Order: sequence, then C-alpha cells, then structure tokens
Amino acid sequence: MRFEDSLILMVSGGRTSSAPSNVSVQKVLDSVDLKNVVVSELCHPSGAWNSELIRNSFLPDDASLILSLPRLSPAQDDSLCWHFDKRGFYTVRSGYKVALDLKKGIGSSSMQLSPWWRFLWKCNIPNKCKIFFWKAFNGWLPTFATLARRRVDVVDYCQVCNDDSESITHILWSCNSAVEVWRQLLGDDVIQRIVVSDFPSIILSLWRSVDSVVFNLLIIGYWRLWTNRNSVVHGSAGWAAADMVTWIDNFANEFRLANELNHKEVLSHQPSWKTPKRGEFKINCDASFQLRSGKAGVGVIIRDYKGSAIAARSSPVLCCSSVEMLEAQACLEGIHLAIDIGVSGVIIESDAASVIQLLSDQTVPRTELGAIIHTSLALGASVNLLSYVAVRREANSVAHCIAQHALSLDSPVVWFEEMPPDIARLVRGDSPTSVCPF
Ligand SMILES: [Zn+2]
Repeated sequence: MRFEDSLILMVSGGRTSSAPSNVSVQKVLDSVDLKNVVVSELCHPSGAWNSELIRNSFLPDDASLILSLPRLSPAQDDSLCWHFDKRGFYTVRSGYKVALDLKKGIGSSSMQLSPWWRFLWKCNIPNKCKIFFWKAFNGWLPTFATLARRRVDVVDYCQVCNDDSESITHILWSCNSAVEVWRQLLGDDVIQRIVVSDFPSIILSLWRSVDSVVFNLLIIGYWRLWTNRNSVVHGSAGWAAADMVTWIDNFANEFRLANELNHKEVLSHQPSWKTPKRGEFKINCDASFQLRSGKAGVGVIIRDYKGSAIAARSSPVLCCSSVEMLEAQACLEGIHLAIDIGVSGVIIESDAASVIQLLSDQTVPRTELGAIIHTSLALGASVNLLSYVAVRREANSVAHCIAQHALSLDSPVVWFEEMPPDIARLVRGDSPTSVCPF
C-alpha cells in the first residue's frame, strides 16, 4: 500500500504497521517520491525504521511521529483495516454511520473526537447526566425548535424566559437563567472567551478552557437546566439561578464522596502483585495518557520468581490514536524487552483486559490494533510466552508508575537490575498502598 498525501496507513508490502488515525503528513520532502514509496522502503531489513532516511525525507514533526511507531514484525503481509468497527469488519451499518458523521463535519467518533469522548465517559458524574449530555451534544433533545423543525405542532419559544426560540444552545447556554448559572459557576472570564455558535462548538471550547472538575460541574449543570426547563414546561415554577448553582455544587460533591468511599472499599480487597513460578518471568505492562498535554507513554518491568526486577523500560510515545493502541504497544514493548535481555518463559500482565483478551485468543482484529497484536503474537514464541493475564490496576502499579514516568521523558530509558530508588521502593512494596512517585 502506498502513502497518500493526507494519511499514512502503515500497512505495506513486507511490513505492516499502523499510524494513529489522526496523524496527517502535511508535506513530504522531495527525496521521497510520494506516489511510489511503500512503508517497507523506509525500514532496514530487520524491520527497524531507517531513521536517517525518514529524517531526511519528512518534516521534523512527521519524522518524529513515524519513528515513534513501535517496531513490528518485518514478515507481515498487507492488510486492509476498518477501524470504525471494534474488530475491523466492515458492515453497511458502520459505513453508514461514518458517512453521516462526515456529512455533519465532525468526523467519526473514533477519529478527531475520540479523546473527547473518552474524557466524557470517564467523567466522575452519574451516567444519567452523561447520557443526557451526549444527546444534547448530538442535537437530540426535543426542544421546541427541534420539534417545530420536525413539523410537530408546537409554538417555538422558550417558556423559561419567554423571549426566544428554544434551541439547544438557547436553553443550555444563552437563556437568562442559563447565563446566570454559568456566570456564577464559571466566572465572567471564561464566558467572555466562548464564542456563541452551535452547541458542540461551545462545549469543545469550554472543554479546552476549564479543568476536569469544573467540566463535571458543567455537565451536571446542563442536566439541571434541562430538568428545570421540563418543570417549567409542565407548569411548575422555575428555580432561581443561585439555587441551581448550590444544587449543582452539592450534587457533584455528594456523588464524588460516595464514589471515593466505594473506591477505597474495593481497593482494600484488591489482590497485590504475585510472583511467577521458579524459572518463569513476569512482565507487567502499562500505558499512561495525559489528556490535556496529549502526552503518552508506556512502561514495562520484568521480574523473576523472587520478585526481583530484571529490567524495566520507560518510553514516551509521541502520539496515539487510542488508549487501547497504547496498551497494546506496552505489551509489545514488554516482549521486545524480554527479547533484548534474552529471558524465556514469560507471562505478560496488563490491566487492559480487552488487549489481553485479543492476545489470549490470538485474535488479530482488522483495525490499527491488528498489526501490534500480530507482531506480539509472532514474537511471543521467541521468548516462550506462557500466558497473557489481565490483572487489576492495583496489581500492575509498578508498570503504571513507569508509564507515568515516561510522560516526562524525551527518549526511552532502560534500567537493568538496579532500579531508580523510587521504582525500587515500589517493587519492594508492590502493594495496593504503594504511592506512585511520578
Ligand atoms: Zn430562554
């Protein structure tokens, strides 16, 4: 497969890899003929990137992105991928959905907006608020403006302020009561920075302007404004803005406290890391992703049957298209480290259950993940890979900290036997109470 001018698909003769789907090559310099080059021509026979050629051929940012892709098996055939389906199978339904998204101009949810959706579903708020917000974001609320557009016999005006058409933007952002709620919750500074346009644009601007705690309040606030609107439509008196703000604050706090209590209770019953059998090695793998900075990293550590650290590697990743890709990359990195130091009889542990499932079942999805899974399975034999095990986060805490450490690095770091003091302490303690130093 050849390079296209807007997207690198790292699936090529003799070498299969996959670029994050949101990576675009802005310009390729003259030394590479865009129309005729295949990815394998950018690699050494061993499968490693030809970094000199890549740096000479691409703009610096693009070269760094390409070089950040993991080493993959050199003996892999071309394959077609369809990353809009979880397992990579094209269906009319998934194609139709992509076409609709493109028509709306927002791209597929698994492309431009994927970090945004991942962020939303991880918000520490009740699911009913998330689901409401998801509908609002997609324009699926039955406001009077929406109903009128669908030729339902209603009079389109806002019954809260009696002053305007009741669009989603109006009721959740521009209506008098909404303006007052947001002024009190966000402050004038933030509000003045937001250009009032369609609702999704307002939300994405806010997402970039406020921290996650405030964003949780925002979502709860939208839900409260909508329930207030429904009360008014059904004949009740609306709430004053100040009362709604107090309610939103209290609701968010109570939910967070209740969740933290549950979390602690679960943690106290978590199993800790377990040593492998004599003669075996355990590789713990994890990935870390920082939403705001876009930084990502993977961390792996190999330990023997005594629990002693044999080697560890902390690698920054310049870009990633999904958390699942990053977690798969961490597992592959673990296998590479095992090959590099020559251990055999290894168990891979990760808290990414979906990735472990694919590896255990030897299922190669026809998505971006496919190339990494395929390479991991192919290389597994060379380290006598015994099993892939999904563990709870608490049993993977050292790898997690090493992955976190990668967020502050510019290039990979490898340690052999002697771990840095902070990691050594975690290895000794490796318990649910260990605190990540990074
Ligand atoms: Zn209004």
